[in-house]
Amino acid sequence: MDQSQKWTARKIRQSFLDFFEARKHDIVPSAPIVLKGDPTLMFTNAGMNQFKDYFLGNDTPKNTRVTDTQKCLRVSGKHNDLEEVGHDTYHHTMFEMLGNWSFGDYFKTEAIEWAWTLLTEVYGLDKDRLYVTVFEGDKEDELEKDQDSFNNWKKFTAEDRILNGNKKDNFWEMGASGPCGPSSEIHIDLRNDDERAKVDARTLVNMDHPQVVEIWNLVFIEFNRKADGSLEKLPAKHVDTGMGFERLCMALQGKQSNYDTDVFTPLISKIENLSGIKYGKDEQQTIAIRVIADHVRAVAFAIADGQLPSNTGAGYVIRRILRRAIRYGFSYLNMKEAFIYQLVEILAEQMGEFFPEIQSQKQLVEKVIHEEENSFLRTLEQGLSRLDQIIAETDGKMVEGAKVFELYDTFGFPPDLTGLILSEQGYSYNQKGYDTEMTSQKERARSAGKLDTGDWVTLKDDEKEEFIGYDYTSAQVSITRYRKVVAKKKELYQLVFSLTPFYPEGGGQVGDKGLLSNDQEIIEIIDTKKEHGVIIHITEKLPENLEAKFQAEVNTDLRTDASYNHSATHLLHQALREVLGTHVEQKGSLVAPNHLRFDFSHFSKVTDEEIQQIEDLVNNRVQKNFSLEEFRNIPINKAQEMGAMMLFGEKYGDTVRAIKFGESIELCGGIHVSATGEIGLFKITHEGAVAAGIRRIEALTGATARKYVNEHIGTLNTIKQELKNVKDPIAGINNLKDENSKLKKQIEELIREKAKGEKDVWVNNAVQKDGYTLIIQKTALDGGAVKDLLFQIKNENENIAAVIGVDMGDKAQIAVAFSDELAKEKGWHAGNMVKELAKEIKGGGGGQPFFATAGGKDPAGIDKALEKAKTLL
Ligand code: ATP
Ligand code: MG
Repeated sequence: MDQSQKWTARKIRQSFLDFFEARKHDIVPSAPIVLKGDPTLMFTNAGMNQFKDYFLGNDTPKNTRVTDTQKCLRVSGKHNDLEEVGHDTYHHTMFEMLGNWSFGDYFKTEAIEWAWTLLTEVYGLDKDRLYVTVFEGDKEDELEKDQDSFNNWKKFTAEDRILNGNKKDNFWEMGASGPCGPSSEIHIDLRNDDERAKVDARTLVNMDHPQVVEIWNLVFIEFNRKADGSLEKLPAKHVDTGMGFERLCMALQGKQSNYDTDVFTPLISKIENLSGIKYGKDEQQTIAIRVIADHVRAVAFAIADGQLPSNTGAGYVIRRILRRAIRYGFSYLNMKEAFIYQLVEILAEQMGEFFPEIQSQKQLVEKVIHEEENSFLRTLEQGLSRLDQIIAETDGKMVEGAKVFELYDTFGFPPDLTGLILSEQGYSYNQKGYDTEMTSQKERARSAGKLDTGDWVTLKDDEKEEFIGYDYTSAQVSITRYRKVVAKKKELYQLVFSLTPFYPEGGGQVGDKGLLSNDQEIIEIIDTKKEHGVIIHITEKLPENLEAKFQAEVNTDLRTDASYNHSATHLLHQALREVLGTHVEQKGSLVAPNHLRFDFSHFSKVTDEEIQQIEDLVNNRVQKNFSLEEFRNIPINKAQEMGAMMLFGEKYGDTVRAIKFGESIELCGGIHVSATGEIGLFKITHEGAVAAGIRRIEALTGATARKYVNEHIGTLNTIKQELKNVKDPIAGINNLKDENSKLKKQIEELIREKAKGEKDVWVNNAVQKDGYTLIIQKTALDGGAVKDLLFQIKNENENIAAVIGVDMGDKAQIAVAFSDELAKEKGWHAGNMVKELAKEIKGGGGGQPFFATAGGKDPAGIDKALEKAKTLL
């Protein structure tokens, strides 16, 4: 049997999970690809991200052993494989990372034994093709070789297959500081026998050989790196492993490229169909097909998890990935029309079973990708025409690097594409100039977003900061730890308390503000956030006496206002689904004290009538004064049974909090009113598009909504007074409009008459020259009228040469017109002449041989220009 039939991708994934489940691991779902609640990362880039809180000791897991497959994206920050993708055959932007974890449970012995058993016995990989690495130690960190791992591997494989690895490859760190430890990698040699006989695989491990690749990395977390760079031993040791699923599929299906596995072949055949180009024939085209097959996965999953392409942050990264795919299609597959969106269907069929979000969000994902494709293809066209212009402006064959950068910066035109188009026309560009611009842009971006974070200073140990904010807005607290952060040159402090009533920013709702005080001092808490499961209170200064007890008091005015908006958001969500349909999914939400914003999937404009219906539904439920029913800490399946709405791209724990007002039930951690009547009034102030398939509603509640309504009524009253037509202001405005258009017509009529008079003057004042009639005049008519008159005169007379200076007070214009025959006969060129004359009015212009105009800033020069015209003609 063909290996790829025996080991389908689906079966490979399932066998992994089953193997560890049998060893007492809980199977947990993949976290969303787009991270929330972790300001240090944009996207999930490794299986361990979602478990960071456990490694940091901020939270304790329910089971100390878990296993999963995690959607990872490596396109920014520490892990960025984007430039490799498509060019090589084993790095992807999005890939699945299979993993097993021990949180203070088993360590190296079990991890190594299980990895070996799974690979060689369950999957049946050839032991002869496997090589492993262990950490060789490091002088600077005063670390010895990882002898434990070495000894464990020795039980299963020959010593000469256990290779030493350096700190770069075999010491894993979460970031500049934090948990870290030695790692041990498993590599596989997939070369054919000939090649294996020629070159020893051991010399190819970690050498970027496409068939001698790392498949699994076992990380043994046993240290914590402090901000000063030193290491300390962790009290509990953890295992964190990550195996590249697509690479494992390649190995098990007997392929030499990830793209030849059933993870990619359906996508690739669809691209072949759409483009009419065969995979594997031409090198460049093959790369392009790989790029597209890879990138559509990353983009589709990011959108399904709630990250839309945009101009900033994570959205911009997604946009750039998609644009890279579009551009490869455009340049190498000759795809000048949108097509990538058509791959989503295939992806949904293939991955939908394991990742239902891609199935249920399919329509939105297609829409968004389609729209992005169209708009980028338009941009590409504009870029191409700017490039033509740049080529025309270039003396010689070398284009300035800065211009290539400009194309990149404004049109997203990458330099390799520009280079390619240039080379087709025999041009090249100055790489150095480009690099300089690029470096300075990166520098600007870096200094803008720089954040310096100090070490945590622990004051009290072993206290889990409890959140009591649903029941209290004030509490006596002590500070358990703090650290200093410097952001944009501003020093701030982050404090963690023994317990806290402060709500941290989350679920769209902004963080609480308030005061931290005692007899000695009062310190303002300017914001509250959550990081790695800990609630952090942000202040501008540190208390004098850190050991003292404090009263932590939430600003309840702000919080109450925010609660109106949060509860109103739930009612709005419910009403939207009733009025527009259940395809409406929340795509973004902001709940602030003074307003709310809600983004949702919907494919057309919400009409005024629909807005009215939605607003009415919400206000009815406000009036009904539904009491808050709060279900705290209920099991997630119970909440689902109750019909609670869950969001894609949101990670929920095993127990959740559900919020119910009447028929509206949502999983939510936010702050709410105790009965909907408190909201007072709900008023939608704006409806618009944020992206393809995504609409946004902004609204107000309570006193802010009343103020808004009153201001509008106030404006209306003023309008009525101004119109002196108190009863019917609309009729009043219509009268004004009618009157206005009548007056406009009259003015046009007057201008026409004036122009006609002027024409007669011009013709009468004309001078007869040798075979032609010369008109030189100054006028105050506008440029359009002058043009009309000149064409009339040309039509009515033969052999006309005219130069008209237009004085517009602060600006000047010159028009030159010749009868076509005359221009030819005399070899005159109106465009060239007007350029010459325009110098006198400090301006420029040009045009055709028989008619041209120029504008300038200096009307005082008109007379001189007309004098000059006389000498020229
Ligand atoms: P490599 O050196 O090949 O880039 P890595 O050292 O970056 O790998 P890890 O960070 O240890 O890899 O990730 C664990 C596993 O995930 C790797 O062993 C590999 O199988 C897989 N992997 C890593 N990066 C990618 C990627 N861009 N695409 C597909 N699989 C990957
Ligand atoms: Mg890597």
